[in-house]
Amino acid sequence: MSRISWNQYFMSQSHLLALRSTCTRLAVGATIVRDKRIIAGGYNGSIAGGVHCSDEGCYVIDNHCVRTIHAEMNALLQCAKFGVPTQGAEIYVTHFPCLQCCKALIQGGIKKVYYAVDYKNHPYAVELFKQANVSVEHVALDNSLDVEKNQEKHEFISSLLDKLAKTDIDEEVLQALYKKADLLFL
Ligand SMILES: [Zn+2]
Ligand SMILES: [Zn+2]
Repeated sequence: MSRISWNQYFMSQSHLLALRSTCTRLAVGATIVRDKRIIAGGYNGSIAGGVHCSDEGCYVIDNHCVRTIHAEMNALLQCAKFGVPTQGAEIYVTHFPCLQCCKALIQGGIKKVYYAVDYKNHPYAVELFKQANVSVEHVALDNSLDVEKNQEKHEFISSLLDKLAKTDIDEEVLQALYKKADLLFL
């Protein structure tokens, strides 16, 4: 069995966090890492105790949802809340950070940004990262580790099996297939 790389491990964590997002427009996850240890994580969502976009719809102004705090901000704020230094730390984000998050990351002393997906990469953010000597690296998540795709695969297999169930397939064979699918997508 091959060992998962640090990059894939931390990026997977960000993708998992993104699944906790409550904003229906975009699901983003961020993991702050220091010395190969996860020190904080965040996803884009409402303030604690606030209403969720997933329940009430997004609050859109100028084509942006203003209800949510971005994943990177949430991760940084978690550090602020609990007094964890971010100086010299690295961050793994599912999407290229927006301009506001870019500035916050630089100001928080983040030294390296790993991102999985290009997302409206703002040229000024790219320039600011460069100026601040923050290195930016693209790390695509391995397909086999893509938790969202895994969900898709599971749903696809389930729908195939449900279709199969409507044919005159042997019940025992069918149950064995269901069991196998369940084991694959635990
Ligand atoms: Zn929203
Ligand atoms: Zn942002």
